[in-house]
Amino acid sequence: MIFGFGRKKKSEDEEEEFDVDREQVLFQGAINDAEVDLSANARLAQAGLGPAKQLVTDALERRCNQLILEPKGKATAVLYFVDGIRYPGTRMPAQQGLAVIQMLKLLGGLDTKQRKKPQSGGIRAEFDSTPYELRTITLPTEAGERLTVNIRNLKESLETPDDLGFTEDLRSRIRSIAERDRGLMLACGGPYSGVTTSMFAMLQAIDVYMYTINTLGDMQGRELHNIRAFEGNEGDDFIQTIERAARAESDIMCIEPLRPNERLKEVMQVQKKMCLVSEFPARDAASGVLQLIKWVGSRQEVAQAVQCILSQKLIRVLCEKCREAYPANPKLVQRVGLPPETSVLYRPPKEPEDPALAAEYVPCRRCGGVGYYGRAGLYELLEFTDSMRELVARKGTEVADIKALARKEKMITLQQEGLRFVAEGRTSLEELQRAFRG
Ligand SMILES: [Zn+2]
Repeated sequence: MIFGFGRKKKSEDEEEEFDVDREQVLFQGAINDAEVDLSANARLAQAGLGPAKQLVTDALERRCNQLILEPKGKATAVLYFVDGIRYPGTRMPAQQGLAVIQMLKLLGGLDTKQRKKPQSGGIRAEFDSTPYELRTITLPTEAGERLTVNIRNLKESLETPDDLGFTEDLRSRIRSIAERDRGLMLACGGPYSGVTTSMFAMLQAIDVYMYTINTLGDMQGRELHNIRAFEGNEGDDFIQTIERAARAESDIMCIEPLRPNERLKEVMQVQKKMCLVSEFPARDAASGVLQLIKWVGSRQEVAQAVQCILSQKLIRVLCEKCREAYPANPKLVQRVGLPPETSVLYRPPKEPEDPALAAEYVPCRRCGGVGYYGRAGLYELLEFTDSMRELVARKGTEVADIKALARKEKMITLQQEGLRFVAEGRTSLEELQRAFRG
């Protein structure tokens, strides 16, 4: 059973009852500070506020990162995402679904009369003495309007290298690369891989007391210790702004994500003057190198400009309360490349197969019976050493060649980091396989 707690079984069409005993989420206003006038929307509030609170309370109890309400004919489907994995929720009668969507739009400062155009906003909320931010996004569909709520626990910040679990080795390598004072320090990753978070963490792993670190443009609401937005002169273009920053003793500048455009040419030009930190989409660091060569159009330029590429993968961490130990098969240990002394592995608990025992089975309260609680990042840092530059500049170099040299140079790969997590009992082999399949 998954998500067995906090909810009585109800038939599909039955209206959810408002459970007075249970602590409910508190909605504390729209993020954009729009006036939310419930009395002017009394009918909507009456139909939608109770079920909206219940739905969001459920989502927060389940530690959801994302909640989606999707109208489908006579019902509205509810989908929950926990630690990046999708779980189907209940179905709501269409009328109630509509009321909940409209209610969450109203609370998030969106225009409830507008249903034909995408909108985005957000709600400040509190649950169980923890502040949350609920970002609401609507998208018109054939069957009505889909609402996505992205949930962020403001207490559980995942912003610093510490929060993200950067090893001391990774930090010291990032610090020493920053000492080169020029070139590109990049983070790459696939969609939803947390690449922006890693990029900001890399920025913070650089010694903020030794260098003046600035950012250009959007910080995405982040407040980073000792890192400030650079105030350029109005009318200056990108190159002039970077030159001005360099003169103003800025050492490192965090810039917008790299894309194959005119700006990239300018970036390649100014990286000779100061160290630039950025991100770009690519599945791993080695593929990222080839991607950049394609965009820039010159192997030599990429080989000279790039200092390092950090890539990451998020994996789910086993719930410490209910993870199950089992003896490791020595053959398997050898085959997957775990340390030979590994004698115990861990996995999520299994619901008993015997129906009598299954009836008695109480899922873990901490993780709701999922067996995992939260996620952690695996990291690999591809460093541009002299021999790596030479290889990248050479005609015909492929992803496999870059990987082979990186291994030779003792780069710790995402797979090795994943196996370390398995050996330490922090995740399961199954989860590792899932994460690397995707
Ligand atoms: Zn558990």
